[in-house]
Amino acid sequence: MAKFKFGPAGKPLSYRGSMHGVPGFLRGIGLNAFEYQAVRGVRISEEQARELGLEASKNGVLVSLHAPYFINLSSLSEPTLTASVERLCESVRASMHMNAYVVVFHPGYYRGSTPREALNRTISALKKVEEFRNSINAASVWLGPETVGKASQLGSLEENIEICRAISSCRPVIDWAHIYARTRGSLITSIDHVIKVVEEVERELGSGPVKPLHMHFSKIEYGRGGEREHHALSEASYGPSFELVCKGLTQVGVEGVFISESPLLEKDALLMKDLCSRICGVNCVAD
Ligand SMILES: [Zn+2]
Repeated sequence: MAKFKFGPAGKPLSYRGSMHGVPGFLRGIGLNAFEYQAVRGVRISEEQARELGLEASKNGVLVSLHAPYFINLSSLSEPTLTASVERLCESVRASMHMNAYVVVFHPGYYRGSTPREALNRTISALKKVEEFRNSINAASVWLGPETVGKASQLGSLEENIEICRAISSCRPVIDWAHIYARTRGSLITSIDHVIKVVEEVERELGSGPVKPLHMHFSKIEYGRGGEREHHALSEASYGPSFELVCKGLTQVGVEGVFISESPLLEKDALLMKDLCSRICGVNCVAD
């Protein structure tokens, strides 16, 4: 039986207060996942991170962490590469302190390289991050390359799977909106597309990454280069369809964590939960 968790990417919009109060707030409104946003830098102290982790476990909220946007593991510039590895290592350390199970990151950019060269550089940079992770005994923290939304970015599903084959502490994070935007609306338009994504992950990497499958969802606007802007679920003129994604996942029977990256954050996380329990049944929505 598929079991799904739902939560926002960042502090809920309707919450005023300190970070450690977020898990209790989310539990109170019926959500059970939270993606801490370190997208502008890892600024949380060890003490704050531990407090957040404690509150999360008390309230049964599963935590993940989104690493800084300023990471480019395929950069041709040595200083950029070094800074990128450092930022990802800091993210791993903070994740260990807050008990986040996965560090979500955008791997890099092709800029001046072939996709193969960019991928190889990313993999060798990630080996350093993996060494760091092992050196601080952060074995419970996965490295999660996310499927990215722009054609200029490294991080297609196939590339991320290859990364995960090379780096054993990696597991792919699926951003459905990004796959849809990067392919300019040609993928994630049928249940079959959704099933194929999950099947590819399982075929190439085994069932580990789908227990649970970590996912982002929102509606999205795209242009020639892919991703433009995230939109709310109620905006009918944008895709992809949440119902379709949920139906596909239900058919293959995976466990999943849905992080809402909609501008409405927790409101759309609740809407996803509601749609999912109607499609798949109340038993599909994890407590
Ligand atoms: Zn992201």
